[in-house]
Amino acid sequence: MTTQVLTILGSTGSIGVSTLDVIARHPGKFRLFALAGHKQVGKLAAQCVQFAPEYAVVSDGEHAASLQNLLQTKGCKTQVLHGAQALIDVANDDQVSGVMCAIVGAAGLPSALAAAQKGKTIYLANKETLVVSGALFMETAKVNGATVLPVDSEHNAIFQVLPRDYQSCLNEHGIQSIILTASGGPFLETDLAAFAHITPAQAVKHPNWSMGQKISVDSASMMNKGLELIEAHWLFNCPPDKLEVMIHPQSVIHSMVRYLDGSVLAQMGHPDMRTPIAYCLGLPERIESGVGPLDFGSLSALTFKEPDFNRFPCLKLAYEAMHTGGAAPCVLNAANEIAVAAFLDGKIRFTDIAKVVADSLEHHVSDSLHDIESLLAQDACTRIRAKAFISSLK
Ligand code: NAD
Ligand code: MG
Repeated sequence: MTTQVLTILGSTGSIGVSTLDVIARHPGKFRLFALAGHKQVGKLAAQCVQFAPEYAVVSDGEHAASLQNLLQTKGCKTQVLHGAQALIDVANDDQVSGVMCAIVGAAGLPSALAAAQKGKTIYLANKETLVVSGALFMETAKVNGATVLPVDSEHNAIFQVLPRDYQSCLNEHGIQSIILTASGGPFLETDLAAFAHITPAQAVKHPNWSMGQKISVDSASMMNKGLELIEAHWLFNCPPDKLEVMIHPQSVIHSMVRYLDGSVLAQMGHPDMRTPIAYCLGLPERIESGVGPLDFGSLSALTFKEPDFNRFPCLKLAYEAMHTGGAAPCVLNAANEIAVAAFLDGKIRFTDIAKVVADSLEHHVSDSLHDIESLLAQDACTRIRAKAFISSLK
């Protein structure tokens, strides 16, 4: 058995913790080169003690000093690094074979791109990387021989039911469309009149999945499905008109592919991210994930429903940004990150999220952006505009 050497970016988050859970089930199969945990020093220290990575990365000197202290008191030899360059360094080090990209938001882009430039196997949870820089990221991965494996459950499901060489052309394989399923989140049946009063606590309480705060709010607004459309567009080289969204509240079917002979292939399982994570980490083998078998006898029904843009205006905005292309998805994402943070901070209403995003999209510069510097500049510029718009709402 060859040991895979891994870096986990965002190890202290929901995906990071699930990844470490899978890794712990396979002693000797994986060795950890680095764990990165932003500002969550206590959790990161405990992970270092358990998994003994060579490096731990935090975001600034202050958190580095407190992590260093904690590790010393526990007798842990992990070296502490900090800052944006350190994230890049642990992603593209020569010893590393695979990088789990599980930072939330566009903050995860530079390190994911660095891993692509070095031809690593990239376990991609950070969908914002593809939304912001899909063309650049996929081209960089291709040119440098990097393998991009989708961790996001829908994309992982699609990846499992597509033919292996689908990238050549979806048409050649008789694929008619890709169907992304969506739970519809906690407000699928909520009276529309109550939407303006939705609280952050209600929005992060997803009915089926346990996830970080930002993606939970995105799921409640269905912006998450919009980001996933753009993610699928780039990952599977799939034209926008071959992408469908179907609400499936039980979250048992994780997505589907429609073939021209009338067949629809679906991947099913419990809503537990350890399944797609284990699928990616184990390839080409199937490995144990800790997720139990699906008990069909206990499933009452699998139901489906078309999404309603009145209820979920963020999904409509994402469709439009995908069709516009160029810098529009980057703008969509940056404005959404600012709006979701403001909502979680109690500064705007749930219904304002779509307004903030729509305003930024109306004002964005529409040219294509081909390098990371211009993408990050567009991202920064949109954040300023979105914050100003939020101030004007008061
Ligand atoms: P989370 O909030 O639970 O964790 C985010 C991680 O990123 C943490 O380790 C945090 O410390 C780190 N982080 C946050 N801001 C950072 C910054 N500025 N710089 C460096 N590190 C930073 O989020 P999550 O739910 O684990 O999601 C992570 C990514 O995976 C997101 O892009 C999300 O869309 C995607 N994803 C998550 C799930 C899920 O079930 N949680 C499913 C599919 C895709
Ligand atoms: Mg998903």
